[in-house]
Amino acid sequence: MLKLIDISKKYLRNSKDTFYAVNKINYEFKEKGMYFIYGKSGSGKSTLLNLIAGYEKLDEGQILFEDIDISKLKSKEINYYRNQCFSMIFQNYNVIEELSAIDNIVVKESINGISYKTSYEKANDILDKLNINHIKNKKCYELSGGEKQRVAIARSLVNDVKMILADEPTGALDEENSLIVIQMLKEISKEKLVIVISHNYDLIMPYTDYVLHLEDGKLKENHNLIISQNNKKFKISRKTNKEKFFLKYAIKKLKNNKIKNILLFISSSFCLVVLLLISGFINGSSDFILKNTTKRFDYGLSTISKVEEIQIDNSFLKLNRLEKLDESELKNIIKDYHFIDYEINCSKLFENSRLLFNDELINSGTLSYVYNFSSVDSSLIIEGENSFDEGIYINNAFKEKLKQQFNIDNPLGQYITINVKEEFNFKADTTSDEDIKDIFVFDKKYMIKGVVDEFSFLSVPKIYLSYQDLMASLQNNLCINVSNFLNQDYSWYDYIYNLDNNDKNSSYSHFLFLNNYLYLDEFENFINNINNLENIEITCDGFILKNTFNDIIEALKIGLVIFFVLVIIGTILIIGLSSYSNFAFQKRNNAIYLSLGMSNEQLFSIYIYENVFVLIVSLISSFIFASILNPLINWMINRFFNIENIIQIPFLSFLNVPFLLPILIILISLFVMFFTTYIPIYFSRNINIRKELQEE
Ligand code: ADP
Ligand code: MG
Repeated sequence: MLKLIDISKKYLRNSKDTFYAVNKINYEFKEKGMYFIYGKSGSGKSTLLNLIAGYEKLDEGQILFEDIDISKLKSKEINYYRNQCFSMIFQNYNVIEELSAIDNIVVKESINGISYKTSYEKANDILDKLNINHIKNKKCYELSGGEKQRVAIARSLVNDVKMILADEPTGALDEENSLIVIQMLKEISKEKLVIVISHNYDLIMPYTDYVLHLEDGKLKENHNLIISQNNKKFKISRKTNKEKFFLKYAIKKLKNNKIKNILLFISSSFCLVVLLLISGFINGSSDFILKNTTKRFDYGLSTISKVEEIQIDNSFLKLNRLEKLDESELKNIIKDYHFIDYEINCSKLFENSRLLFNDELINSGTLSYVYNFSSVDSSLIIEGENSFDEGIYINNAFKEKLKQQFNIDNPLGQYITINVKEEFNFKADTTSDEDIKDIFVFDKKYMIKGVVDEFSFLSVPKIYLSYQDLMASLQNNLCINVSNFLNQDYSWYDYIYNLDNNDKNSSYSHFLFLNNYLYLDEFENFINNINNLENIEITCDGFILKNTFNDIIEALKIGLVIFFVLVIIGTILIIGLSSYSNFAFQKRNNAIYLSLGMSNEQLFSIYIYENVFVLIVSLISSFIFASILNPLINWMINRFFNIENIIQIPFLSFLNVPFLLPILIILISLFVMFFTTYIPIYFSRNINIRKELQEE
C-alpha cells in the first residue's frame, strides 16, 4: 500500500554543507499491521514520517500511496491525501486547545463536508471504544496529557483512514497512559497500517508486527524497489455542504479572541462613526449655507463705484481712487437687470446717528436699509407685523441688545429714536472758496414693527429702515442756510444728489437695491458679472459674508477629510496589526488545520465569518451611535456658535442617490475587512507544518 522508493532528504548542517537526514530508503509497507521504526535521536525518524505525510518535500525518490505518487500532488490533492488517506499522531497531541474534545474529533470530517450531526454520531462510537465519552464536552486545555492523546487518536480514526502515522505518541506520557495508547494503536493495526516511531524499544517491542531500524538516515532492512512511471490520481469527492460548520467554528473563534475582536469592534465603529459624521457635515453644511447665509433683510443691498487709477509721479505705484458713477453710466450697467434699482447713497448723513430708546442712548447698533417692504422676504420676520408703515425692523442681535441693556423682553410696539445733528458744507460757488455751512437735524421716532430672524454668524445688532420712507423724510427736510442763499427750497436729498462724484459725502458710490427678493440668485450672478468689469467696484456685505462663511466651511471640510483619511489609515493599521498578531497566536492552530487537510479557502472562510460578524455588529452600532451623536453635536455647535443643524447624516439619500451612503459604507468596510482578513491567510500559505507541529 505504501512504497518508499529510494527516498532522500537533505538538510543544511551549518549554513554551508548539507547532509542526508533520510538517505536512499527503500521499503514497502503492507496493508495492515503495526510497524515500529526505532533509532537514536537524530537518526531521521521524524523526517521520514513527515515525508510520508507530505509535510516535507522529497529531494530524491518516490513515495507511492496506493500507487499514487504523492510528491506530484496538486494542493487540492494534497489536502485530500491529508484528510482522507492518513492521520498523524504527534508527541505533543496537537489538538486545538480552545475547542472541546468532541469538536476536535469532528474537525477532519467537517473539513470533508460531512454534516455536524453525522460526524457527531460517528465520533460518539469512537469515544465509547476509547473510553473517553465522559470528557467529550470538556475543552482540551482542561484535559490531561493522556486524555489529549486519546482525543488525538479518536480524531485520527473518525474518518476511517487507511494509515496511521504516530511520531513518539507516548513521548509525553507516563507509563500507564503510554501502555493504554500503545494498546489502542495495536488494536487499530488489526485493520489499518500503523507506523509508530519511538525510541522506547522496550515499551513498543511486545506489540509490534514489523520492526525497522533507522541509523543516520539509513534503513537496515532495505528492500529493492523500482521507480514506477504510472500517473494514477486520487478520485476526489469532497462534499460542498460545509458552510454551517465554518460558521460554527467562526463563532467559537469569536469567543476565544475576545480582546482582539473588541479592539476590532471599537476601532471600526469609531472609524465608521467619524465617517458618518463627516459625511453628515459635508451634506448638512452646503444645505446650511444655502438656507442661512442669505437670511438677512439687507442681503440685496450693495454699493457701486467707479475705480480711477492714478499713476503716481516717478513711481511704479498706482493708486486706486473710488468715485460715484454718473447716472448715464449707471443706467447702462443695470439696464438688463429689472430687479435692480439704483439710488443715492445717503449713509454719510447718518454716519454719526444716535439711537435712543426712551431717551436713553442705545450703546450699539447700526442702520441698514431695505428698498421697501415688498422687496424683502417677509418669512424672515419671526415676530411682529408685515409692514414698514412708519416703523422699523430690528434683527435678533438687536433684540438681544435691548434685552441686555434695558431688560426688555418684548420690544414690539416700543419706539426707537434716530437722532442726528451734524454740520455739512455746501459749496455755494465754483469760483469762490467760501462754503455755506448747514446743520443736518434729524430726530424721528420709529415704532419697532418686528424682529428679523437673521443668520447670526458675524451678525451685528441692526435696525432696518425702509429706504423709500427715509428718502421721503429727507426730501421734506430742508437745508435752511442753502435754501435761504438760493432763495428756493433745497432739501438734504437734493444736497446728496447734487454732490460731486468725488465728494466724500457722496460716499463715492450709489446704492444698488434688489427690489424683489425672489431674484436672489440672479442678484448674485449680477454682482459676479459686475465684479468682472475692470473699473467698476461693487460691495455687498451679505455677499461677502456668504463667501467668507463658504470658505470657512470648505477649509473645514478639507481638514475633516484629511482627518478622516488619517483615521482610516490608522484603523486599517490597527485592524491589520491585530489580524497579523491574531495570526501569530493562531499559527499553530492554523498549522493543525492544514495538517488535517483543510484548504486555504476553508481557513479563510473561518476568519471571514468571524470578521463579518464583528463588522455587522460594528456597522449596526455605529449607525445607531452616529444617529445619537448627531443631534448631540448639533446641539453643542448651536450653543457655542449659534449655528443650527450643521450635521445632517444623509442616511436616506446622498448626492440625490437613495441610500448611497449606507451602501457606500458597507462596501468600503467589506473591502477593508476582506483586505485585512486576507493578511493572516496570506502568511498561512507559508506555514511550515512540520516546524509548527513538532516539538524539538
Ligand atoms: P529523529 O526524529 O530521529 O530524532 P529527525 O528526523 O527529527 O530525527 O532529524 C534528523 C536530522 O535532521 C537531525 O540531525 C536534525 O537535526 C536534522 N533536521 C531536522 N529538521 C531539520 C531542518 N528543518 N533543518 C535542518 N536540519 C534538520
Ligand atoms: Mg523525532
